[in-house]
Amino acid sequence: MSAATMPRPDAVHVRAPGKINLRLRVGPVRRDGYHPLATVFQAVSLFEDVHARVADDISVSVSGRHAERVPTDERNLAHCAATLLADATGTSAGVHLHITKEVPVAGGMGGGSADAAATLLACDQLWGTGLDREELGHLAAELGADVPFALTGQTALGVGRGDMLTPALARGRYHWVLAVSETGLPTPEVFASLDASGTIPPNRRVSVPPSMMKALLTGEPSRLTSHLVNDLAEPAVHLRPHLTQVLAAFEGTDALATIVSGSGPTIAALAADHTAAVAIAEQVRRSRVADEVLVVHGPVPGARLTEQVRTDR
Ligand code: ATP
Repeated sequence: MSAATMPRPDAVHVRAPGKINLRLRVGPVRRDGYHPLATVFQAVSLFEDVHARVADDISVSVSGRHAERVPTDERNLAHCAATLLADATGTSAGVHLHITKEVPVAGGMGGGSADAAATLLACDQLWGTGLDREELGHLAAELGADVPFALTGQTALGVGRGDMLTPALARGRYHWVLAVSETGLPTPEVFASLDASGTIPPNRRVSVPPSMMKALLTGEPSRLTSHLVNDLAEPAVHLRPHLTQVLAAFEGTDALATIVSGSGPTIAALAADHTAAVAIAEQVRRSRVADEVLVVHGPVPGARLTEQVRTDR
């Protein structure tokens, strides 16, 4: 049976991961308001679940971690994604999207972007619009700089706004301890604080050194530590001084290195292995400086379809 003649599902389930930035270098703001970035993303095992079912119009509901802080109207990135796909393909179909959040909201881990990527894939299946991954990638880039990465997952180098991706050859599995804050940090505020600090030279060019790609190839976490840098760390800590205490809580543990994830306020600490990560998490939990402490690993795949349901009518 060809794709065109396959019966369409009534409901689909797509899962997409959150990310951390192993390296995030920021260039001077451009005339269009964007900062050129050179980043290395890694998708980690904290997932957003999007259940999509056929409906008359487009609507969204949300449950899970920090769900009360997520809009369910047209401002929701999943709503934007469904609308963009409908407009781009000329379909008049509708969808109800239920998002189960696991990625901390406004935590610098791209949760909203994961929802948008999952929605593009879910609606494409549900509506039978038949776009390929490349076409979905173009729509993803229109929705936000982190959305294309949520489609592809794994470990990737991102330049431009972070949306021009090259897969990185990363061996092995990296174990991370995440210190999560209940209070999110809006990304635009963090960039504004960076600009105001005047620390980016106007002619600065940003890049990812080949030595970092080599370190990823070895699969040795200890080889990666010197490459873990984030230009948004200082402004994030400036805006949330409490993060100094969270970072201090990792000192004296076996953490190999700590970084602010994306625009923060999530802090990610690299561990030598899973056992070390569990022990570090326990120590940081005991310090009571973080609202929640989680153990995750990366890399993991990007948005993927896990279930399709067709009810016989
Ligand atoms: P960024 O991708 O800008 O770095 P982030 O990862 O820090 O953001 P998100 O959780 O993706 O943070 O969302 C940031 C804001 O976007 C939230 O405060 C929320 O108001 C809004 N938002 C819109 N849609 C969603 C969504 N599906 N999930 C979470 N937040 C959303």
